[in-house]
Amino acid sequence: MKINKDYDAIIIGSGMGGMSTGAMLAKDGYKVLILEKAHAPGGGSSSYFRRGHVFESGATTLIGFDKHQPLWKLEQETGIEIPREEITPSMAVWIDGEKITRYKNREQWIQECTRIFGNESAQKAFWTEAFKVADLVWKVSLNNPIFPPLKFSEWGYLAINNSPLDVWVLKYALRSVHSVMKKFGVDTPKFKRFVDEQLMITAQAKSEETSFLFGAAGTTYTNYSNYYVPGGLLEMINTIRSFIQERGGALHTKEGVEQIKKND
Ligand SMILES: Cc1cc2nc3c(=O)[nH]c(=O)nc-3n(C[C@H](O)[C@H](O)[C@H](O)COP(=O)(O)OP(=O)(O)OC[C@H]3O[C@@H](n4cnc5c(N)ncnc54)[C@H](O)[C@@H]3O)c2cc1C
Repeated sequence: MKINKDYDAIIIGSGMGGMSTGAMLAKDGYKVLILEKAHAPGGGSSSYFRRGHVFESGATTLIGFDKHQPLWKLEQETGIEIPREEITPSMAVWIDGEKITRYKNREQWIQECTRIFGNESAQKAFWTEAFKVADLVWKVSLNNPIFPPLKFSEWGYLAINNSPLDVWVLKYALRSVHSVMKKFGVDTPKFKRFVDEQLMITAQAKSEETSFLFGAAGTTYTNYSNYYVPGGLLEMINTIRSFIQERGGALHTKEGVEQIKKND
């Protein structure tokens, strides 16, 4: 395919990463072209139709609209309004026939954990620490487009862009969720099974294999506002697509990028 020289930027892939990048660039006056190899846009945030029903191709629910979270920032900066409805309660989990309601309210959630797993003071201490870490991780990730840091230079960038008062949280990059559960005395087999299953949703790993830095956010995402998009997540992608197109941009599907050549 010949790329029209009228575009200022070309984005490969129309997943939520590519779409939000495109929206931020379009907001700043750049004309963007998004190239998507699949027949429909959205990647892991898309929907398809079968026999009158909408199925999600990956993601089903959204968080990130609370103050200082990424989708909040996207909406604030671009004026885009992603169609959504809040899910309350955020989630229900069934273990051995018993229903665990994942209340968004933090106090209510700790009470629910105490009802199911016992040991109120230990549960309270564990979740209080998890909320503290998760709140900070969300804040830090918004300040740092590259997160979590992998390269030495990225750790340097993190150091410059953040408050030294927040450095305490970094110790949790090296501690597993399970070791923190042990520290707070909540490592019973039943609670571990629950946490492991919750982590499989967000980290695709169990408590021994997940750092608490990530796992705290992973296990508490139901304590932030959770939403679904009526009609499916493709509606979110289409909303952003319209915003980009209205600013002179375009999204082409069935256009896989096979090669990138460096030119000056
Ligand atoms: C089963 C499942 C459930 C999930 N549930 C949730 C959830 O409930 N909530 C949540 O927030 N997240 C969820 N996620 C995660 C979420 O879907 C992803 O984090 C997110 O969609 C990733 O977006 P992305 O833009 O980084 O990548 P992708 O969505 O993977 O987008 C990449 C795009 O690039 C295209 N592409 C790749 N190579 C080329 C090429 N050479 N040329 C052109 N195009 C190319 C791909 O076709 C794709 O469309 C879930 C994921 C899965 C798989």
